[in-house]
Amino acid sequence: MQNLTAEICAKFKEVRKAKGLNQSALAQAVGCKQSAVSMFEAGMATKLSDEAVGKMAELLGLDLAAMLKADEERRKAQGGMNVLPVMAAGVVSPGDVQIARGYCPNCQCPSNVPYVVDGRLLYRPSRLMASPGGGTRCVQCGEMLEMRCPACGAPLNEGACCGVCGSAYVTPTLIEGVDVMAYARARRAEILELKSLM
Ligand SMILES: [Zn+2]
Ligand SMILES: [Zn+2]
Repeated sequence: MQNLTAEICAKFKEVRKAKGLNQSALAQAVGCKQSAVSMFEAGMATKLSDEAVGKMAELLGLDLAAMLKADEERRKAQGGMNVLPVMAAGVVSPGDVQIARGYCPNCQCPSNVPYVVDGRLLYRPSRLMASPGGGTRCVQCGEMLEMRCPACGAPLNEGACCGVCGSAYVTPTLIEGVDVMAYARARRAEILELKSLM
């Protein structure tokens, strides 16, 4: 489905979790693959058809039309700025927030820069500020920030992987068979371009 922001996709994930449904169960009910639901929730809205998204909204009790309308109105209020909605809304100005030592776990988020080591795709997450008002959401994509290693709970280090358990901080949700080198290169160029727009 086109025109869905990562924020709306994240809302689907939030409500699914709140209802205690896993991705496979939801995928089965909607009639798509679990991987498609996973990628959709990570912000790749086009991985699901309009029909599948509609069904999913219905199952989760989400009013998709209202969400799209609210998004549309917010976008208009921002003068058509469609990229990085939360950042564009000016929620955060660096002067009035504390540095929270978190990172964004969404691999589609421009705060995570992909690179390849020994054929393995890794993301180096930026340290992000939490939004003011006690929020712990990514200022760039709206995802909940992780403040510790999600696998073992160890404090975060500056790299791509946990120094204690070795697990990668950001999990890629790539389709199998994708050329990771080419993907990482293209994505880095994209992130640079996004940054130049800010
Ligand atoms: Zn993010
Ligand atoms: Zn760990």
